[in-house]
Amino acid sequence: MEFNLTDEQQMLYDMTTDFGRNEVAPIAQEMEKAHRIDPALIDKMAGLELFGVHVPEKFGGSGLGYTEISLVGMALARFDASTSVTFLAHASLLCHPLFRFGSDELCGRYGPKLAKGDLLGTYCLTEPGSGSDAMSIGISGGVKAKRDGDDYILNGEKIFATNGGLHLHNPGRKVLALVYARDMELWGDGKGKKTSDGITAFVVESDAKGFTVSKEEDKLGIVASSTAAITFEDCRVSKANVVGEPGQGGRIALATLEGGRIGIAAQATGIIMSCLDASRKYAAERQQFGQPISSFQRIQDKIVEMWGCAHTARLLVLEAAHKKDKGERVDKEASWAKLYASESAMRCATQAVQLHGGNGYIKDFPVERYFRDAKITEIYEGTSEIQRLVIANNVMREQ
Ligand SMILES: Cc1cc2nc3c(=O)[nH]c(=O)nc-3n(C[C@H](O)[C@H](O)[C@H](O)COP(=O)(O)OP(=O)(O)OC[C@H]3O[C@@H](n4cnc5c(N)ncnc54)[C@H](O)[C@@H]3O)c2cc1C
Repeated sequence: MEFNLTDEQQMLYDMTTDFGRNEVAPIAQEMEKAHRIDPALIDKMAGLELFGVHVPEKFGGSGLGYTEISLVGMALARFDASTSVTFLAHASLLCHPLFRFGSDELCGRYGPKLAKGDLLGTYCLTEPGSGSDAMSIGISGGVKAKRDGDDYILNGEKIFATNGGLHLHNPGRKVLALVYARDMELWGDGKGKKTSDGITAFVVESDAKGFTVSKEEDKLGIVASSTAAITFEDCRVSKANVVGEPGQGGRIALATLEGGRIGIAAQATGIIMSCLDASRKYAAERQQFGQPISSFQRIQDKIVEMWGCAHTARLLVLEAAHKKDKGERVDKEASWAKLYASESAMRCATQAVQLHGGNGYIKDFPVERYFRDAKITEIYEGTSEIQRLVIANNVMREQ
């Protein structure tokens, strides 16, 4: 495996890091207070063509892969995890499945607008009754799709859609939702069928009639990012908006989560790096017992662990991304990268707060935000328990 980034990948990483340091970090706390990503920051991200990273060139983007998605997600998360997940949900949860499974007509219709950030992506899989057991959507409650001539009619509720309410705060921009629904034409009464076979995926624009953001969540962490419940009420969607084939939605959802987990592992890696940055600086400046606290071995132990976790997590992310970009299945590697990086992020954030003493607990210092932000990486795109399940299933099959 090649461990060096190409010149282009390094340039993208450096550019995003500079952007994060100069444009994102100074306003991260304000954005958290406002409970939203600053629309001017979204404009700047669009100006840097970040939203086009994973849009194929023939549809108006840069046509880059998971390695680049991960590098951008990691560099942004080093300065603000909310900004990072806003990018990741767009690139990895919407663009990836759309351009991998969507028709040329669909990709041509939406590609240029997604690349420019005029359309921002959201991924609507989770429902009030369906989380870890994602293939159970639309069975008891949730979103159902009924065929009506050349259209489908969607009814029901999705929850926890990252970016789901972005259009409410960004006049002139719309959200494009990838919505997974129980396809009643295929599912019927469900007898004798596999739950995954009765799911169809649709793209729906946020200004479609019957598409309503019913709630934006107030959260523990990644506070500035939008996490929305979306209600579909007799929402009419053309069959031309089906991604892949009817009934292929279950496969598309699982394939998307594989890559999405690499993205969240990258986000968690960025959070570890932010803990290291803040802790190294504080430990050098803070004096106790007549010397900088960085001279105490117990403090150095924490710094060593943060550096080691960031280094290892980055390698795991790049390995999984590299294999995915070569077209290999990486369920196990993606789950391990996410599991390792997210649990390390939580541990390193706890250590970073500890290293800052009382200052770690107050909002004048950023580490309390890193601590709250780190937690979500152990939950979304599959909890740590589910990652262990995926890895165990893969490893047991390999006997
Ligand atoms: C801020 C935020 C953003 C999100 N963004 C999105 C998004 O963009 N799109 C989207 O579709 N979803 C999104 N989600 C949903 C997220 O992916 C789910 O919350 C997550 O997968 C867990 O599902 P759940 O909340 O229903 O928990 P549950 O499935 O109810 O799990 C509860 C507990 O039981 C455990 N558990 C469940 N099954 C098993 C098992 N078989 N073995 C062992 N333990 C088990 C879980 O690990 C967990 O600890 C988001 C959630 C949040 C909070």
